[in-house]
Amino acid sequence: MPEAVLQRAAAEMLDWHGSGMGVMEMSHRGKEFGAICAQAEADLRALLAVPEYFHVLFMQGGGLGENAIVPMNLSRGGNVDFVITGSWSAKSQKEAQRYCQSRIAASNADGQHTWLPAAASWQLSGDASYVHLCSNETIHGVEFQELPDLAALGSKSPLVIDFSSHVASRPVDWNRVGLAFGGAQKNLGPAGLTLVIVREDLLGHALEICPSAFNYRIVADNKSMYNTPPTWAIYVAGLTFQWLRQQTEGGLTGVAAMEKRNIAKARLLYDFIDASPFYENRVAADCRSRMNVPFFLKDESRNEAFLAGAREAGLLQLKGHKSVGGMRASIYNAMPLEGVQALVGYMREFEQSHA
Ligand SMILES: *Cc1c(COP(=O)(O)O)cnc(C)c1O
Repeated sequence: MPEAVLQRAAAEMLDWHGSGMGVMEMSHRGKEFGAICAQAEADLRALLAVPEYFHVLFMQGGGLGENAIVPMNLSRGGNVDFVITGSWSAKSQKEAQRYCQSRIAASNADGQHTWLPAAASWQLSGDASYVHLCSNETIHGVEFQELPDLAALGSKSPLVIDFSSHVASRPVDWNRVGLAFGGAQKNLGPAGLTLVIVREDLLGHALEICPSAFNYRIVADNKSMYNTPPTWAIYVAGLTFQWLRQQTEGGLTGVAAMEKRNIAKARLLYDFIDASPFYENRVAADCRSRMNVPFFLKDESRNEAFLAGAREAGLLQLKGHKSVGGMRASIYNAMPLEGVQALVGYMREFEQSHA
């Protein structure tokens, strides 16, 4: 979270704009929260350049909830193609099996999820209700640098992306996307809010078993107020959208500025790792994530010492995911360049004292 956003939320905690209430105390149907929610949607649309024919839905259930909610709404019980590039897309495919015929169109599992299968090689079904991919694999550190153009590959299926861990870190090419979903907790705000951005023409085909509160048509028709939305999380995410819109970098603003900053942050860290005989990153250079950088000490017996020293230096949460091991630096939007500089400084120092 950007510190400025946390400070603003703290300052407004007990009394939002002289209303005499904090946001958590408001009716979600009152005019105050209505204004907060409408502003959040408008700021998000401006930030991500979301076209008018897409709905912005503020939901709950998280990324894993969407693994069921998307097929319940979009699959029509038919075939769905999955591109497996890491743990998250693999989880999505497994969950979808309960609602549709989920097929694996491509997978990088035999390379331990360290590269991306070229779109031209995907075995797409002619009749898939949609094609699913995870545009940034948080655990394996693999990111699509460009979304596939399914139409150019001869497919009529819409593309569904799980952009949980890199939303708002780079622009989205909406011409290539039918639906994007993501939990807010990595780049946008507190846990509890799930963002869904979906093209209007994809709505209205939910399976009978789909809970009403998870039926995109119903959620869209009720402007995300069919049931009580996660009001506090929407408010804090809204503050983050405003913060993001105000960011500038080298003459750029908003997401373009964040992208420039994120490229610089990621380059600093990857260049250091690649140049060092002490550390390594195993992901192919053309699909390395700008947000999540898994790396290893070549001598893994030093892992505990590395983490203990990092904690002492104020560098937290560097332990890699248990399925991958090693280390992982998650350098989300709110992490400034100075934070990555501090990490690289520590890594250099640790290497010099242990090599
Ligand atoms: C973190 C993450 C999720 C998380 O899902 P939750 O249900 O919100 O915990 C899903 N997909 C990706 C790519 C993630 O990084």
